[in-house]
Amino acid sequence: MERLTFTMPKLEPGWVWLTGAGPGDPGLLTLHALNGIRQADTIVHDALVGAEILAQADPNCELLYAGKRGGKPSPKQPDISARLVRLAREGRKVLRLKGGDPFVFGRGGEEALSLVAAGVPFRVIPGISAGVGGLAYAGIPLTHREINSAVTFITGHGASGNIPDGVDWSSLAKGSPVLVIYMAIKHLATIRQRLLDGGRYQQEAVAIVSKATTADEVILDTTLGRCVEDAADAEIKPPAIVVVGEVVRLRAGLDWVGALGGKLLAADPLGTRTGRQAG
Ligand code: SAH
Repeated sequence: MERLTFTMPKLEPGWVWLTGAGPGDPGLLTLHALNGIRQADTIVHDALVGAEILAQADPNCELLYAGKRGGKPSPKQPDISARLVRLAREGRKVLRLKGGDPFVFGRGGEEALSLVAAGVPFRVIPGISAGVGGLAYAGIPLTHREINSAVTFITGHGASGNIPDGVDWSSLAKGSPVLVIYMAIKHLATIRQRLLDGGRYQQEAVAIVSKATTADEVILDTTLGRCVEDAADAEIKPPAIVVVGEVVRLRAGLDWVGALGGKLLAADPLGTRTGRQAG
């Protein structure tokens, strides 16, 4: 890599680098990810990895797609893991490239364990997860001192295709002021009902961020009570992150991407100053 004062590692033949590509904007790749993408002779990537990022690869690098295509079912996870092992044993320099972070709802752990079982050496390169970087681009902090000291990352879609078993929505509704829900759109009506049953409010702020940090990003500001209908009206497309909690209201003041386009930001989005004066 050019003009760095430290040395980046070499991707050796027979190795697999399990790499996060971040949420979409190529500028959110890590240096390790870019270093790996440029050295790989084989990249096995998901649907979430965009063309601009893949364009950073060497022109001779083989790009292998391992994701859903045209409504067909996605390749089975054991098949992907077996393919990584095979490519490594052929002596290739393999980069396994996943959207966001490989260890956040990315099945990176499963693939890494297969590599361990097969004796294939590997490195893990974390990425910026969509639930972190995507929300930062939407002007939503995950924590804010006046609002929350805890945040929960949840998947709305379990291995069975239904809302996941083993999530105690009632406890989360009571115990986690901010919920960042991946893969939430399909079962949003059920999720909403469980949160309302657990004591959350209809008026609570919700944002839905689709295709975060890309040119096609859409951000919907809504409430828990209206989110399902508003998402349908806005024709929200996957991939999308749903965030539930009062931190969403900070967007009125922190939508820095909107401000780049001329939007006026509110200096006091929570209304705390006027609130105190009135009190
Ligand atoms: N490993 C990934 C998550 C993979 S699960 C990560 O750390 O981000 C796939 C889910 O991630 C999608 O259904 C969606 O909820 C979320 N997601 C990934 N990329 C996204 C993006 N650019 N915008 C919004 N949501 C995204």
